[in-house]
Amino acid sequence: MSTHARGRITIDLSAIARNWTQLSKRVGTTECAGVVKADAYGLGASAVVPVLREAGCRTFFVASCEEGLALASVLSGARIFVLDGVFAANRSHMADAGLIPVLSTREHIAHWRREAQARQTKLAAALQIDSGLNRLGLDADDIQALKSDPDALAGIDVKLNMSHLASGDDPDARENELQRQAFETHLPHLPAAPASLAASDGLMLGTDYHYDLVRPGYALYGGQAFRGRQTPVEPVVTVTAQILQVRTVRTGDAVGYSATFRARSDIKVAIIAAGYGDGIPRTASAETHDVHGMAAIHGHRVPVVGRVSMDLVALDVTSVPESVLEKADAVELIGPTVTLDEAGHNAGTIGYEILTRLGHRFARTYTTGDPT
Ligand SMILES: *Cc1c(COP(=O)(O)O)cnc(C)c1O
Repeated sequence: MSTHARGRITIDLSAIARNWTQLSKRVGTTECAGVVKADAYGLGASAVVPVLREAGCRTFFVASCEEGLALASVLSGARIFVLDGVFAANRSHMADAGLIPVLSTREHIAHWRREAQARQTKLAAALQIDSGLNRLGLDADDIQALKSDPDALAGIDVKLNMSHLASGDDPDARENELQRQAFETHLPHLPAAPASLAASDGLMLGTDYHYDLVRPGYALYGGQAFRGRQTPVEPVVTVTAQILQVRTVRTGDAVGYSATFRARSDIKVAIIAAGYGDGIPRTASAETHDVHGMAAIHGHRVPVVGRVSMDLVALDVTSVPESVLEKADAVELIGPTVTLDEAGHNAGTIGYEILTRLGHRFARTYTTGDPT
């Protein structure tokens, strides 16, 4: 660990490439896209995207026009879909950059149709159908309206018809099959185009959910979103934080703001240079719920004690052998001992939120996994 970083996020880029390849194999002839919204889930799209492109990924999804524009400037020979859709204010920028909006409302469609008319050309787009998530997408009335107006999609070259699952992480959820049926009911009423329903979790539900294109994000970054069985991906991210002090806390003494933790015996506490200002959720505090944050020192698991503060977290390191503790200058927050998914669970959230909130006081290091 360098002398100046409080903590370090290490991102194994070759693991991301291998994960994409594994997922792509898993879905056979179905195309495997890469979802790189929110700066590739906080890992840095400018580092991640070239690696995915090199692995063979040809289709990318971002959330916003801004994310798409940033990507378009560094990426050639690939398609970039923009999940937010298109608006009056950004439609000409989207078209100039060759971005492909995911059209989810009649207004999105009208903006894109006008842009195509103004340019006297056809513009590529995806259509999003809401199949039960009630988040973004055309509903049955919208689809009926499209059908009854032959000019509704004039100038729009539909490249993809897509929808998104609410409970794709749960193999037993009834909604999965209901959403799949709703999707199939709507598809014949839209222009013929490849179809897409599954993200990281849905692609584990089986081939019925694969259609022509799958859209994994979290799994590329090593996340296990699906609860049924192991997704064939390996961890990508390690997060470590510096130990600033190790102190003894006597029986009955309190640790941290509001004295929510009190030692029942003499314990050893390590204070580390990470807090909610670095994206360690305050809900990882040891008093907020049954589960709470964990870290590790050379494989020894150490629990958070007391409240997570802005810059600091206290860990009970009493169980770590003195010989190990003496030499340790950092703790693992996410890594081989505490997985990304466990870190999410321990804070009452999901690994997705942990990843996308990792702060900028942590240095980011990219490796290719090769021993140096
Ligand atoms: C974020 C997102 C994805 C990727 O989801 P993961 O669970 O990260 O694989 C796919 N499709 C849509 C519409 C999304 O919003």
